[in-house]
Amino acid sequence: MNEQEMWEAVQHSDADYDGIFFYAVKTTGIFCRPSCRSKVPKKENICYFHSAKEARNAGFRPCKRCRSDLLEYQPMREIATEVKQRIYAAVKENSQPVLENVGLTTRRLTDVFKQEYGITPKEYMDSLRLHAAEKMLTQTDKKIIDVAYEAGFSSLSAFNRFFKKYVGKTPSEYRKEVSS
Ligand SMILES: [Zn+2]
Repeated sequence: MNEQEMWEAVQHSDADYDGIFFYAVKTTGIFCRPSCRSKVPKKENICYFHSAKEARNAGFRPCKRCRSDLLEYQPMREIATEVKQRIYAAVKENSQPVLENVGLTTRRLTDVFKQEYGITPKEYMDSLRLHAAEKMLTQTDKKIIDVAYEAGFSSLSAFNRFFKKYVGKTPSEYRKEVSS
């Protein structure tokens, strides 16, 4: 990449170049990843680096906002693993996973996760919920609506729709069939 291309990536906060290069701002002493949402600095104040290490060696500090240091210590695989663990823990606790601060945009995270595990974070979360629901339907007498909420669905209709889509029948049909 030449400087002009890097400058364009910075201007557009283009996450596709995260990890490819870093830019540092001479006036602030901070280095960022291309996708950083901070105000675009003046072109003449920027210098470019191929790694976070180079930027540090030149005396720059990582940006707190875009966490340019995460790419230094956490290759994509580790980020994917971290996200997977957070989703798993969140589904267990019946809460929403916090994925905003892993250091990647949602789009980029989806790509990274999919590359690692073959499914998107959402699909992974859905499958965990589905399994939890199936288990409750077959092993407990809980009402369908309670199963829906406990498995993390926001409403009975959302649960029914989701279940039908993946299993091909409604939760109550499923329960009847399995228990008969
Ligand atoms: Zn930044």
